[in-house]
Amino acid sequence: MNDLTGPSTRKLIIAIDGPAGAGKSTIAARLARKLGYVNLESGAMYRALALKAIENDISFDDEPALAGLADESKIHLEPTINGNRVLLDEVDVTQRVREADVTEAASRVSVHPRVREWMVSHQRALGIKGGVVMEGRDIGTKVFPDADIKIFLDADPVVREQRRLEQQKLKGITSQSVATEIRERDFRDRTRAASPLVPAVDALILDSTALSEDEVLRRVEEAVQKKTDALR
Ligand code: C5P
Repeated sequence: MNDLTGPSTRKLIIAIDGPAGAGKSTIAARLARKLGYVNLESGAMYRALALKAIENDISFDDEPALAGLADESKIHLEPTINGNRVLLDEVDVTQRVREADVTEAASRVSVHPRVREWMVSHQRALGIKGGVVMEGRDIGTKVFPDADIKIFLDADPVVREQRRLEQQKLKGITSQSVATEIRERDFRDRTRAASPLVPAVDALILDSTALSEDEVLRRVEEAVQKKTDALR
């Protein structure tokens, strides 16, 4: 599939949402590389704010303080071939934001509407010109409700836990903590009042439980091709 982006085609906004461990980051990164687009990991922005809350000893339940913290923060995502480099107030926190305490904190700070408003407005600014694959939980529903393509990537929870476990084995995290972490995050993401994790009504829902990464990518590319053809 080589003509996904012909010269006459404008650059698309592609939203990939879904729960933790469904394979969003890998698919978004591979798709972006193929299209010559940038891949933006919106979750990394929640993680950066969560890290700042930890560093400043701010309660994850204190919405006004967290919103104030966001207002005085500079959170930058720099797309690279290996995912996003994350800069918090000009300090590289790429590795730190992937640690377990930040992962849990990100899930907790993201429930607050004022935090989400700040994130959504910054994420819109990053992607509005198109040529972007943005992944997260609310990209197709809130950040870009008019995205050209919306994918909701899901998988059986046990399979998601296994995949995440394999990714994290090297970091010395036990299977039980990964399973608990994923379940708790899922529950919070799906049940929060503000922008809960749900597929957009017009999303293509892909269940990757029994699909290889290549097969998922192929189906996403088909959706891109269809859209590209329709725009010609
Ligand atoms: O995608 P990632 O695991 O890095 O996201 C970290 C946390 O940020 C998620 O558990 C979720 O609670 C939150 N998040 C969100 N909306 C997004 C992206 C992430 O609420 N668009």
